[in-house]
Amino acid sequence: MKIGILMGDDIGYEVVPEAVKVLSAAAKIAKCEVEWSNFPIGKEGHNLHGNTTPEVTVDGLKAMDGWIMGPIGHQAYPRNDPTWIMPPIRKIFDLFASIKPVRSYNNINSVHKKVDIVFVREVTEGMQSWDTTITSDSGEYRPNSEISIGSRVITRKGSNRVAREAFKIAQKRDRRKVTAAHKEAVYRLTCGMFAEECRKVALEFPDVEFEEIHIDTIAAHLVMKPQDFDVVVTTNQFGDILTDLGAGLVGGLGLAPGLCVGDTQAMSQATHGSAPDIAGQNIANPFAMIMSGKMLLEWFGRENSDPNFQKASELIDSAVEMVINDAKHTTIDIGGSSSTQIMGNAIYEMLEKNL
Ligand code: ATP
Repeated sequence: MKIGILMGDDIGYEVVPEAVKVLSAAAKIAKCEVEWSNFPIGKEGHNLHGNTTPEVTVDGLKAMDGWIMGPIGHQAYPRNDPTWIMPPIRKIFDLFASIKPVRSYNNINSVHKKVDIVFVREVTEGMQSWDTTITSDSGEYRPNSEISIGSRVITRKGSNRVAREAFKIAQKRDRRKVTAAHKEAVYRLTCGMFAEECRKVALEFPDVEFEEIHIDTIAAHLVMKPQDFDVVVTTNQFGDILTDLGAGLVGGLGLAPGLCVGDTQAMSQATHGSAPDIAGQNIANPFAMIMSGKMLLEWFGRENSDPNFQKASELIDSAVEMVINDAKHTTIDIGGSSSTQIMGNAIYEMLEKNL
């Protein structure tokens, strides 16, 4: 497997190396062949090549099976300078589904226990369709100084493929249930098309239970009884909000991993941002980045029917769980007092011990 490493900005320099350390160890133990390559992105890309998304990086990633990308500190980038505007990498590579699992751990303080949900969010269209021919790069436009208009693009293709991804994931889980979250009663054409495609795909997966729920209803339901959900599929903007809500349910952003998948490539990217407020202090939780990397190995194993990659991902899962349950080497955000590196090392050592 060819894996790219992109540090991102700020805490990316602290959490990405921990992920690479843990992934390399698991891959070695499970006898997976992995070739690693580094690519500059964000501020590093700008320093080296005058652009936050250098051509050399985009070209290099084309040859990768997948990559681990740290968070991008775009909020601090200079405005109105095209060399600092960063189109989402997922858009360039058509990585259309963002998969975000949230899971509660007994030892970690959380609003709820026994939560085990996978959110599947469409990430190439919706309100962030980036059609710059008619709108600004945020998908919005301002016809005069008093009015601003946001647009939303929903396609059959986009809805169908993200629904299919959700059903494929549900089929491999114990509960085998997909919930499609939308607001068809109001947005009859956009949410309507998304719902129609979900229903069509559901017919192809008779072994997976399917239900639909309005986006406002699921917001309340998730806060009150998240245990009712297994796999939740939704459109871009709704998913952006629900996935942060999901992270909040189980203990915070440091615990929320993610993987963006396309037809042939995938990208590990944690839900959290670059957290400039804690960057350089060695206190960021590496869990989300490590588990995002684990998802990449699992995805590759599934796509290529390679049990060694599946094994590597299971090894990481159990090492992480042991370190969390043991609670001696966890970071401050989840109630511990260890540094980023100490938590990463503890997971690495647990892997070696399991061997
Ligand atoms: P963006 O818009 O790029 O998503 P943001 O400002 O919404 O960024 P984050 O950068 O994710 O949000 O930070 C939100 C809060 O969560 C901050 O207080 C940050 O320190 C904290 N945080 C984020 N990631 C982690 C982590 N891995 N470990 C500990 N705390 C974190």
